[in-house]
Amino acid sequence: MSSSTEATVADWSAGRHVMAGELFLGLYQPSPETAGFWEGVARGELLFKWCAACARAYHPRRIICPQCSSTQLAWRPASGEGKVYSFSEVHRAPTKAFGRGAPYTVGLIETAEGVHYFCRIVAQQGAAIAIDSPARLDFRVLETGQRLPVFVVSAEGAR
Ligand SMILES: [Zn+2]
Repeated sequence: MSSSTEATVADWSAGRHVMAGELFLGLYQPSPETAGFWEGVARGELLFKWCAACARAYHPRRIICPQCSSTQLAWRPASGEGKVYSFSEVHRAPTKAFGRGAPYTVGLIETAEGVHYFCRIVAQQGAAIAIDSPARLDFRVLETGQRLPVFVVSAEGAR
């Protein structure tokens, strides 16, 4: 058996199980390009890729700046400030696990850095989610057991 003719097969056995509630979506291993993002999430930080040449932030991450083609990109923490750009209230969840949290809101937050970040949007008691509502970064354990970045609309911010 010649190893030179064998195809290289990735070993996904050590990969992270990606679950949507009880629905197994497959195995995921952070790539070298995404590992920094997930390490930030584990520390409670939301990181965006930043271009040192033109000072723009990106999410999803890029390996080359789409504005100036620089490869001088690095992870930097997001400011945590943003406003609701678009949202949808989910009443019929895709799985039983997500159904435990329904109705819930997902959508795009336009962050202070200009990134449109898709995530769960949470309204504090007494607050209503609306387009342009100020929102602030927080981390919450979702129905799937994952602790992920969310944005919170506060009652004070809506006034
Ligand atoms: Zn750039």
